[in-house]
Amino acid sequence: MSRLSLALAPVLLLTSCRQDPPSDFGKLSDEFVYTNLSFSPSGATAAGLHEYNNRNLDEMLDDFSPAALDKQHKFHESFRNRLNALKPDALAAEDRADLRILQDEISLSLLDLDQIHMPLHNPTLYVETLGNALFSPYVLEYAPKPKRMRDIVARLKQVPAFLDQASLNLQSSPDIWTKVAVEEGEGNIALVDKTIRAEIPGDLKQAYSQAARSALDSMQKFQNYLKTSLSVRNNWDWRLGHDRYVQKFRYTLEIGDDADTVLSNAEKDLSRVRSRMFEIAQPLHRKMFPNEAVNDQDKVIREVLDKIAERHATPASYMEEAGKDLREATDFVRAKHLLTLPARSNLQVIPTPEFMRGIYSVGGFSPAPTLEPQLGAFYWVTPIPQDWPKQRAESKLREYNFYKLKLLTMHEAIPGHYVQGEFANDVQPKSRRVLRAISGNGPYVEGWAQYATQMMLDEGFLDHSPELALTFAKEELRVLANAIIDVRLQMLNMSDQEALDLMEKQTFQEREEAEGKLQRAKLSSCQLPMYFVGWRSWLQVREGYKKMKGAAYTLADFNDKALAQGAVPLAVLGQLLE
Ligand SMILES: [Zn+2]
Repeated sequence: MSRLSLALAPVLLLTSCRQDPPSDFGKLSDEFVYTNLSFSPSGATAAGLHEYNNRNLDEMLDDFSPAALDKQHKFHESFRNRLNALKPDALAAEDRADLRILQDEISLSLLDLDQIHMPLHNPTLYVETLGNALFSPYVLEYAPKPKRMRDIVARLKQVPAFLDQASLNLQSSPDIWTKVAVEEGEGNIALVDKTIRAEIPGDLKQAYSQAARSALDSMQKFQNYLKTSLSVRNNWDWRLGHDRYVQKFRYTLEIGDDADTVLSNAEKDLSRVRSRMFEIAQPLHRKMFPNEAVNDQDKVIREVLDKIAERHATPASYMEEAGKDLREATDFVRAKHLLTLPARSNLQVIPTPEFMRGIYSVGGFSPAPTLEPQLGAFYWVTPIPQDWPKQRAESKLREYNFYKLKLLTMHEAIPGHYVQGEFANDVQPKSRRVLRAISGNGPYVEGWAQYATQMMLDEGFLDHSPELALTFAKEELRVLANAIIDVRLQMLNMSDQEALDLMEKQTFQEREEAEGKLQRAKLSSCQLPMYFVGWRSWLQVREGYKKMKGAAYTLADFNDKALAQGAVPLAVLGQLLE
C-alpha cells in the first residue's frame, strides 16, 4: 500500500535558477495542482507546499465548510472547461499523458463532491485529516523543530472549530466508518497528549499545554458525538453501488477495461494460480510429511503453507526483522543490477502512526514529499500490539511469517514503493513531477510494487526458495481476491460471509487477515483492484518494450526508463517509452 492520496506539492525551497521555465501546459498543470493542494493544508504540508498566495499553509487546517466545498466545486468545473478547450493532438505525447491525468483527477473530484459526498457521511475523513495535519509537522523536517512545533500549536487552536464543522456536516454514517473513526480518534488523542507533548521544547511548553487542552477537550467531545449521536444515524451504505462505482473505477484505474472485465479476468486467474501452487507444494509436502498422500490440492497446499508459517518473528523482534529484510533485498538488487538504486538515503523503517492503523493494519509506505525529496521517506510497519491475546498475535505472526515479511518489505520499500517514489521525485520538469506524484496513477504504483517483487523471485532471490515462491503465489491469490471483493462488495452486493469465504477458503488467508481486508474494503473503494490491474499491465508494458528493443533489451534499462516517467496511467506508459 502507498499513501498516494497525500503525495504532493510545490514550493519555495527548491527554486533553482537552472530550471527551464515551464511550458504553457506546465503552467496550466501547476495552477491546477497548487490551487487544488491549497484546498487541503494538511495534504499541502505532507507534500511540501508550505505557502500559497502569501498564506502559511502549515498553520492552517482543512476547511470543510459548505462555502469552501462550493469553492472547490467551482474551481474544478471551470478548470474542466479550460482543459476541454485544448486540442490533444496539438500537444506533445508527454503533455497528452498529463492532460489525461488532470482530466481524470477533476472527474474524480467532481464525482466525490456531487455524488459520493464523503464530508457528509465519512467521519474518518475528519479524523485522518486531523491526524495527518498534526503528524506531518511532527515527523517531516521541513523547518527547524521550534517552527514546526509552533505550526502544530497553531493547528491545535483550530481543532475545536474544525471538529464543530465536522459534527455539523455529518448526516449519517455506516457503523463501520463510525467505529473506525472512534478507534483512530483515540490515536489522535494519544498523538497530542503523549507523543507530541513529549517533544515540545521548554519555551513552548506553556503555549502547547494551553492549545492542547482545548483541542483535547473537543477531540473527546467529538469521540462522544461519534459514539452517541452519529452512531444512531447509521442508515448510510458504505457500498458505492453500480453507477458510482463504474465511474470511480474508470477515473481511478485509468486502464480502459471496465470493472466487469477486470472481475472476470481475476476470477479466471484464481484456479490457474492455485494449480501452480499445487505444483510447488507437492515436493515440499513429500519432504515435510513423507508418509502422506499428495493428491488433494487444497489439503496439500494448506498443510505446506501451515508448516511454512511456523517460521516467524516474535512481537518484540518483528520490527527488527523487517529492517534486516530491507538490507538483504537492497544487497540483492545491487548485486544483480536490476535497476539503478536511489542516490538519496532517506528511507526509515518506523512503526505505523497509530491514527493510521485502521487502514494500514499491516504496513505502508509514505514517500518523501515531492517538492522536498531530501526529507524522509518512511516504510511503516504496523507493530503487533502488546495487549493482543496470544492467539490473535500468533495468527498475525503466522500470516506475516519469515517469508511473507520479506515480500512485504520488497513491496513497500526496496525494490517496491520506495524505489518508485525516488524515481518519481526526479521527474523533470518540476510541473510534471508534481502532477505525476500528486495525481499519480494508483495501478502504476501498486503494480510496480507487485511486479518488482516478482522480478526479485524470477532473478533468484533467497536462492530460488520454493517456500518463498509458494508464499508469493499465495500473495498473488490475495491480489486476485482484493480485486474480486472490491468489485463484488462495492458494486454487486456481495455479503460479508461470501467475502470471508473467498479469502479464507479459496485464497488461504488467516481469519485475522481476512477480517482486516474486509474492513479495508468497506473503508475504501477502487483501491484494492490496483494491485491486480497494475501488476498485469506492467508485465504487458515490459513485453511490448522487449519486442521493440529486440537484442538491445535489458531488464535494468526497462525498469529505469519506465520508472523515470513517474506514475502515468499504464495505458499510456508504453507509448512514452518509444
Ligand atoms: Zn503498496
